[in-house]
Amino acid sequence: MQLSASKTDLLLACSYPFDRRLKGVVSTAGPEAIYGSAFHELISTLKPCTPTPAESKLVKSAKMMLKKWSVVDVTPEELASHVARTHSYVRRWIEREGFLEERCLMVFDYKTGADPAMPKESGQLKTLGIAVHRLFRDGLAGGRRYLLGKEMTVSCEESIAYNPWDDAARNCDGPGEGHIYRDAGEDEIPGTTDLVFAPVIRDRSTNFFDEGVTVGIIHTPLSGMVTIQTAQLGPSGMAEHRKALRRAMSRIGDDSMRPGGHCTGLYCPAIRVCPSKTSALATLQARGIVWSYERVGEVHQTLELYDHLSKQLRAEMRAWIDQNGPGIRRDGKLVVLRKSERENLSKASIERGLVKLHGPEKGHHKAAKMIEMLRESGCIETSERTEMRAEPDRGR
Ligand code: SF4
Repeated sequence: MQLSASKTDLLLACSYPFDRRLKGVVSTAGPEAIYGSAFHELISTLKPCTPTPAESKLVKSAKMMLKKWSVVDVTPEELASHVARTHSYVRRWIEREGFLEERCLMVFDYKTGADPAMPKESGQLKTLGIAVHRLFRDGLAGGRRYLLGKEMTVSCEESIAYNPWDDAARNCDGPGEGHIYRDAGEDEIPGTTDLVFAPVIRDRSTNFFDEGVTVGIIHTPLSGMVTIQTAQLGPSGMAEHRKALRRAMSRIGDDSMRPGGHCTGLYCPAIRVCPSKTSALATLQARGIVWSYERVGEVHQTLELYDHLSKQLRAEMRAWIDQNGPGIRRDGKLVVLRKSERENLSKASIERGLVKLHGPEKGHHKAAKMIEMLRESGCIETSERTEMRAEPDRGR
């Protein structure tokens, strides 16, 4: 599966799905995300800050978008109304906030689904925020930009590829079939911004870019209120995120997995091929297991086999390390043999020690007395334990 800005949170949680050797792992979108694509495409045809067109004028285009994205449960009128309502809200918000006079760099994402992450917690927005910041800082911003007054510009649906190793960004081609960015390199994270407001830079020697970038989410569910949340991504936040991206990207292809709460079919497209979910042991622990007379027997017998194999493999590994030196794990840790001393006191060790010292007859007698004395003085504790084991069926 190709890495993209929208997959940042999954990357940071687990790099395994992005291994290019994995076959059949593709980014799939639910009905909500598919509707979101139709919404995005339609609203990107409208310039922010220009009067919102009448809903009726958007219906024809809305129909085309719904057909293109195969959205079946929303009518063209509903999409047209949704886009018009959002555009009008954003336009009024821009006028009210007056940030166009402040000459700041702002990156916004429209979210039509339920409850998106806050801007400062959204990996996608942080990645896009850094990409846009680097693009403007390095004077490389191209794409379709509209002038807003004399000092600010805005762009809609601008595709950018960010390279966290070089800390540089460039404009790239938009996603094609299967949402794949064909011209993105292996070290790049491509993504598409919904709205970018940027000042007209006349003098590159200013320290304008020291302040970082404002990232924001325009949350606009199909039936609900429009809300806008923003957060400042400063130099230290950008450096931290860049470091996290590099760390996670360097793990791609090393076969490491990080199972956790994010391992759901809705979130991870690799769940069907992930060894942490498909290995025989993981299958045994599959959710929804229904325990029964036979199931307990089946799992107990399988685990017995695993225990046996585990002991055997550990013995073989010990012998190998003894001969050849340490092994190396995929997480970079070495597998070594470490000697240590430990003391052991048991009934058998008391018997052995005293028999050795006094001979069999006297030794056994002394051992029995000592064990009795230890029991009476409370040094030997008695507790009950319940063992699970396999026994012959003698007619229950
Ligand atoms: S199921 Fe979990 S551990 Fe496996 S690849 Fe997906 S996120 Fe990683």
